[in-house]
Amino acid sequence: MKKILIIPCLWYAVAFAQLAPSAVDGKVEALMARMTLEEKIGQLNQYSSDRLTTGPVRPNSDKYNDIRQGKVGSMLNVKGAKETRMVQELALQSRLKIPLLFGMDVVHGYRVTFPIPLAEAASWDLEAIQLSARIAAKEAAAAGLHWAFAPMVDIARDPRWGRVMEGAGEDPYLGALIATARVTGLQGKGLGQLDAVMACAKHFAGYGAAIAGRDYNSVDMSERMLWEVYLPPFKAAVDAGAATFMTAFNDLNGVPATANVHLLRNILKTKWQYPGFVVSDHSAVIELINHGVAADKAEAAKAAIFAGCDMDMEGHAYIETLKQLVQAGKVPIELIDDAVRRILRIKFELGLFDDPFRFSDENREQRVLNAPEHHQAALKMAEKSVVLLKNSAATLPLTGDLKSIAVIGPLAKSNWDMRGSWSVYWPEDHMTSLYEGLQARVGKATQLLYAKGCGIADTSKKGFAEAVAIAKKADVVIMALGESTDMTGEAKSRAHIEIPGVQEELVNAIKSTGKKVIVLMMSGRPLIFPSTAKNADAILYTWWLGSEAGHAMANVLYGDYNPSGKLPITFPRMEGQIPIYYSHRNTGRPLVEGQNTNYRSKYLDVSNEPAFAFGYGLSYTTFEFSDLRLSQKTMSATDTLTLSCVLKNTGHYTGEEVVQLYIQDPVASIARPVKELKGFKKIKLKPQESKKVTFAIDKEMLSFFDEQLQWKAEPGKFNVLLGNSSDNILLKETFELIN
Ligand code: BGC
Repeated sequence: MKKILIIPCLWYAVAFAQLAPSAVDGKVEALMARMTLEEKIGQLNQYSSDRLTTGPVRPNSDKYNDIRQGKVGSMLNVKGAKETRMVQELALQSRLKIPLLFGMDVVHGYRVTFPIPLAEAASWDLEAIQLSARIAAKEAAAAGLHWAFAPMVDIARDPRWGRVMEGAGEDPYLGALIATARVTGLQGKGLGQLDAVMACAKHFAGYGAAIAGRDYNSVDMSERMLWEVYLPPFKAAVDAGAATFMTAFNDLNGVPATANVHLLRNILKTKWQYPGFVVSDHSAVIELINHGVAADKAEAAKAAIFAGCDMDMEGHAYIETLKQLVQAGKVPIELIDDAVRRILRIKFELGLFDDPFRFSDENREQRVLNAPEHHQAALKMAEKSVVLLKNSAATLPLTGDLKSIAVIGPLAKSNWDMRGSWSVYWPEDHMTSLYEGLQARVGKATQLLYAKGCGIADTSKKGFAEAVAIAKKADVVIMALGESTDMTGEAKSRAHIEIPGVQEELVNAIKSTGKKVIVLMMSGRPLIFPSTAKNADAILYTWWLGSEAGHAMANVLYGDYNPSGKLPITFPRMEGQIPIYYSHRNTGRPLVEGQNTNYRSKYLDVSNEPAFAFGYGLSYTTFEFSDLRLSQKTMSATDTLTLSCVLKNTGHYTGEEVVQLYIQDPVASIARPVKELKGFKKIKLKPQESKKVTFAIDKEMLSFFDEQLQWKAEPGKFNVLLGNSSDNILLKETFELIN
C-alpha cells in the first residue's frame, strides 16, 4: 500500500481542536468514557438491511446479532415505523443501548414521488424545491428515518452519465443554491424536530465528472476545475448545515475519494471546519482494494479512516479490522474517537438518547404519508419542472373545443416510468400516466384515441400503421416519447443518448398525416432528437415527474399552468460535442460570425452550438426586457452596485419568466469563462403587466480563483448580461471595478 501523506498526531490534534464545542459535547464525552474500543468501532459501522438491498454479504439475522452486541451504529434501508422500531429494539439490547441511525435514499420524495431532481432544478424555483425536500423529510421522518442520503449535489456536464438525473445540472451557481434549498428543506427547523431528517451532501467529490460519462469511472480534473465548478455546491451544503457528507466511488486524480486526505481531511474537515460526519458510499471502503490502493480490508480501512471517512457503509472493513489496527498501533485512537464523537453528537441532537423510538410512530406514519397536500405540492412541482422547447405557430396550449386527440407513443400509458430512478420502495404506488391525466382533464366532448406506435427501444415499425390511422382521425396528436425510467440513474450510463429505437421515425410518420404534432419528451437526461426537434410542432420536455405526472402534463398542455422551466443543463446536438456547457472559456481562435472560419476552434462536421442551451425554455406568453440601468458605472471593492431592468409580459397569458444575470470578465490575469450565471429572478406577470427587476452586484460576484487559486476580484471592466437563456442575452452593460 502507498504511504499516506499526512503527519499524524500533531496535525490532526490541531484540526480537531478547532471544531466548535456544542451543547451536547459533555454528554458525548461522558458516554465515550464508558465505551470499549469495540463499541466505538461499532458506531462507525453501517449495515444495509437485506430486505431492500440486493446482495449484502451477510443476512439480516447475522446483522441483528451484531446490533445486539453494539457492533452497529446505523442501518440503511430499514423501511417504515414498525420495522425501524423493531430493529431499534435490538440496539437497546446492547450493553450501552446506543440507538441506531436509520438512513435511506430519499431522493425525490419518500412516499409521494416528486419529479426527479434534475427536473426540479429546471423549475429554477428555490422555494418549490425546498418545499419538495421538506415534504420528503416529513414523510421519511414519520416512517422512522433519521437520515436521507440526499441531496446529490454533483455537478454533471455529461448526459451520458446516468446519474445526471439526480443532481441540479451543470452550473455551480445554480447548483449551490439548489443544494442549499434541498439541505434546508430536509433539515427543516433543525435536527431533533420530528419532521426533519439529516441531509447528506453527496458524492464528495467529482463523481459527476466520470471520464466519458461511464459511471464509477476515474475522474481527472485540475484543482481549478474542482474549486470553480465541483466544490461550490458542497460548500453551500456545509454552510446550510448539512449534517452529513457521503464520499464518492471515483478516484480523483488517482486518489479514491473515500481515501482522499485532500478532500475529506484537508478541505472538508479542516479548511471548511465541517462539524458533521462522513459516510462512505456503499461498499466504497472495501472497493479501495479494486482501486488498487489497498491490498486488503485492513489497508482499506486504514486509508479511509485516516482520510476522514467516519462511517463505513456496508463495507464491513471497519468492523472487521479497525480494532486490530488500533491495537497494533497502526491507527491512532484519536482518529476513531473523532469519528465516534461526530456520530454520537448527532444522535444526541436527534434526541435519540431521550427516546430512541421517537421517529418510529405508526400513527404518525399513517397520518403523514400520502397526505393530500403532499400530492398537491408534487403536482405543482411537476408543472414547474416542465420545459417548453418549441411551440411553432402557438400550437400550445390546447383549446377546449377539440373533438378528438390522438395519444401516441410508448410512454403514453406508462405509469411505472413516471417515477424515475430512486423511487422504488413502493412499487405498488400508482403514478399517473399522461393518458390518465388527459382523461381526467379533457371535457366530455373530446375523444381520446390511443395507439402505442412502437416500444421504447423497438426496431420494428409494425405499430406505425395503427398510429397513423388514429392520427388521421384526430384534430391534434400528442406523442409521449423518450427513455424508460431504468435507462437513467446509477449504473445507467449510455454511450448513445439519442432517443432510442424507432421513435423519431414514428414522429416522421405521424407528421406526414399533416396533423399538428405535440411531443412530450420523457427522460432523466438530455436526449438527442434532431428530427423530432425539426418536425414536431411543439415539444415539452417533461423528464420524470413522479406521482402526479399525468395531471401535471395535462395541465400544462391545456395552459392551466403556463410552462416556466428553463434547462439546468446544456442539450448537445450529438455525443461528439460532450462535454458541452455554456460557461466554457474562450479559445485563442474562437469562431466569430462573419469572419473566416479556417483554423478556428470548431468541428468540421457539427456546429459548436448546442441543440438547446443552458437556461433555455419558452412560455405560452412572450416577455420583453428593457431599460437596463446601472446605479454606477464604476464601483470600488466595498460598493454594491444596483442593476435593474424592466420585464413586460407582452403576450396573452399570465406567465413566469426567469431573468438571468450573467457576468463576463473579458480581460483578467487568467482566461475566464465567456459568461457565468451570477443571479436570477423568476417573475410572474399578467398580460401587459410589467415589473422592475433588480439585482445587487458586489465584489464577491466578480471574484474568481486566480493563478494561485486565491479567491479575488481584479480591477477592470466587467460586462453584465441579462437574458432569458444563456444563449439569448437581451441587455448588456459595462462597468468598472476600481481599486
Ligand atoms: C449510491 C449512493 C446511495 C447508496 C445507498 C450507492 O450505490 O451511490 O448515492 O446513497 O448507494 O443506497
